[in-house]
Amino acid sequence: MTRPRKVRIVGYPPAVWFFKPQGIPTRDLEGVELSMDECEAIRLVDLGGLTHEEAAKRMEVSRPTLTRLVESAHKKIAVALFEGKALMVTEPSGNIILRNDRFYCQDCWNSWIARNARGCPECGSSNIIGWRMRRRWRQRGFRKRR
Ligand SMILES: [Zn+2]
Repeated sequence: MTRPRKVRIVGYPPAVWFFKPQGIPTRDLEGVELSMDECEAIRLVDLGGLTHEEAAKRMEVSRPTLTRLVESAHKKIAVALFEGKALMVTEPSGNIILRNDRFYCQDCWNSWIARNARGCPECGSSNIIGWRMRRRWRQRGFRKRR
């Protein structure tokens, strides 16, 4: 019997989903993948200054799980920096609940955090995308735009 994966609460996604070392063509580049829950763990602990205990409560995971997420994120970032690899944030998987999404306007490239959005608060365009919509967005072929 497989154990159901417990959910992890994520406040909001990072601003950027892809970091690439300067001067290395993408085709010659190896990547390291950061998961959305690893991002949230370092956002709360490293950026927000929360203890592992406090961050664990926010994400609704155990303290040891939170510590594992922080450690694996640190390891991946160190590998990217010292071995010159790209860093990619993966799409939220099934056990991740995004409390808020990060939206991008495809017309003015404004980016903002909100629970839901119908239009860009800067320019009013409805040509917006968010992490929750990314899978759908890719299927529709928006990605081929550039
Ligand atoms: Zn806009």
